[in-house]
Amino acid sequence: MTESLRPLIAGNWKMNGSRATTRDLLAELRASLRESGPARCDIVVCPPAPHIALAAVEMEAVSGIELGGQDCHAAVSGAHTGDVSAAMLVDLGCTCVIVGHSERRADHGEDSETVRAKADAALAAGLTAIVCIGETHEERDAGRAKDVVARQLESSLPGAANARNTAIAYEPVWAIGTGRTPDEAEIGEIHALVRARMGDRLEDGGGVRILYGGSVKPDNAAWILSVPDVNGALVGGASLDAASFWSICQSCP
Ligand code: PEP
Repeated sequence: MTESLRPLIAGNWKMNGSRATTRDLLAELRASLRESGPARCDIVVCPPAPHIALAAVEMEAVSGIELGGQDCHAAVSGAHTGDVSAAMLVDLGCTCVIVGHSERRADHGEDSETVRAKADAALAAGLTAIVCIGETHEERDAGRAKDVVARQLESSLPGAANARNTAIAYEPVWAIGTGRTPDEAEIGEIHALVRARMGDRLEDGGGVRILYGGSVKPDNAAWILSVPDVNGALVGGASLDAASFWSICQSCP
């Protein structure tokens, strides 16, 4: 991990939970924070949109854990049934939003141009964008992982990106929810590539946090977070269990 960058651990709850489980999970996280004291990382949890308002109430006056959205629309407002704008997330108390998650790319046909438009909207509203990129298993097997990631990065990066308003999440699609992870060299190779591209594109590209995502668990978090240029993690399944998520947060060097 780049020594000077404060890690970011983001929990993506996806389409899971109820009002009751939202309350319980956040109460457990609050208790962990109280017992352990401030974490060595920034922490964000991203509940499903219908539960963000409740989460905001639960986390009111709690510092050390922020809220994020799982997606936003590229438009400011209007006739977009079922969608959520970046301004709505801000209004609810979110500080960041995930865009371009592979499940959105696959389930909703989002391409990198769409992702960039969403990230642009997020930045314009004052949110930090966590921009997801990552190759499929077939692309890795074909030796195309670096090309795919570089292309996605190039096309998905918002125009006003800088190290304060944008983080990149490298999430190999084949590692999400599967219990499989790339090895250290594979993660390191892609993160080095992303770091180099960020350096080419942005004045402060060395300061952009590059998260790894894909089956991060308490038992692998420490080694993943110690790979050079891994500046945090985007955590799916394990973020639904407060003890596991907290343990991952505590694994930051
Ligand atoms: C994710 O959804 O971004 C993710 C990484 O999921 P998981 O941790 O369950 O693989």
